[in-house]
Amino acid sequence: MTISHLARAIAESPTLKLNEEARILRERGEAVIHLGIGEPKNKAPITAILSAAAKISSGDVKYSPPDGTPSLKKAIIRYTEENYGRYVAPENIVVSSGAKFSLYNLFYSLIDPQDEVILLAPYWVSYPEIIKMVNGIPVIVTPEDGSFHPRFEDIEKAVTPYTKAIIVNSPNNPSGVLYRQDFIAQIVDYCERKGIYLIMDDIYHKLVFDHKKCPSPYQFTAKDIENTKIIVVNGVSKLYGMTGFRIGWVVTNRRLASVLHNIQAQTESCPSVVLQAAAEGALNGMQSVVESLRLTIENNRNVILQELKTVNGIRVIPPDGTFYCLPDFRAYSNNSVELANFLLRKAFVVTVPGKEFGMEGHLRLSFAGSIKDIMTGVERIRWALDPNAPSEIYIGDRRMVRDWL
Ligand code: PMP
Repeated sequence: MTISHLARAIAESPTLKLNEEARILRERGEAVIHLGIGEPKNKAPITAILSAAAKISSGDVKYSPPDGTPSLKKAIIRYTEENYGRYVAPENIVVSSGAKFSLYNLFYSLIDPQDEVILLAPYWVSYPEIIKMVNGIPVIVTPEDGSFHPRFEDIEKAVTPYTKAIIVNSPNNPSGVLYRQDFIAQIVDYCERKGIYLIMDDIYHKLVFDHKKCPSPYQFTAKDIENTKIIVVNGVSKLYGMTGFRIGWVVTNRRLASVLHNIQAQTESCPSVVLQAAAEGALNGMQSVVESLRLTIENNRNVILQELKTVNGIRVIPPDGTFYCLPDFRAYSNNSVELANFLLRKAFVVTVPGKEFGMEGHLRLSFAGSIKDIMTGVERIRWALDPNAPSEIYIGDRRMVRDWL
């Protein structure tokens, strides 16, 4: 075997793998319902499309500075001021090809071998793998059973002299939970005192429901941008429905930003100027597109909660944001991988096993799709698992009879 130990140890992205499996089943003509998908259905904002199209038709499509075009940075500065109450300089911003790459670049820049990064379970699947890719050690803090809200005391207990950073994603993928303000305030204060970096993965920060608001972490520190340990990661993928445009960014102190800049210069050179133009168009355009997506997703959340009530035995903590929920399916199985495979094979519904997020016994269901998909998907889950459900169902135009309960 000539492949490195490190590379061999990195797991396949389970969500991308599921997308591929679903695509193959669909190609075979199966009526697959995708409740695994992590992207909204809306089209990219027209201002993003026009801006990218103008860049292409200018024919002037060249390298940009490694850390992003000045005009996109200007839009990010305004975004940061409006949404976070902080005025930052262009030198505090590094734009990358997606927030995932921003995170990789960040961990690469922060971690020495054996350094630890604290993750709060349930956590986004990619965090542990990215941390391992740079020889770091993910340290997981798990909440008490029945809660998705880890306790601050448990975070404190997990900190060691090797702790380099804590990563917080709120609202959270996969649980949809928005961490309480006092909890965020406590973590900010703790990280500032201890000199531990606090990475706020804010990719869903405006997708929150029930009039709740995701607080700006900067409001809990008196330190300026050059001295605070807070690092904010953001992007256009989720809020603007622009997952395929691959633009994300980091806001941090100049010293770290210049390191990120150098790594980027030696890896991707720069994010595509066409896609940066698209992100700029989205950030400078009408922000009602975000609110309109938020309203659609909130309505979808209400529908999925209503539907899930009809499935006996599963417990759901209502999501405060994102487009995911993470119901507890332990009444049916403690093995989420087996359960997700069973649902895909028998009911052609894609779900993501909670095990991948550090929450065994749960399945992540996405409500980013259409209402019809949500209703049909949950109906099929009920049919496949709940003995009280009618034993017959139509999947596509096939009548299926349940013979396993
Ligand atoms: N963080 C979280 C929590 C996410 O869910 C995702 C996308 N699934 C990302 C980061 C990466 O986003 P991007 O598309 O900008 O790479």
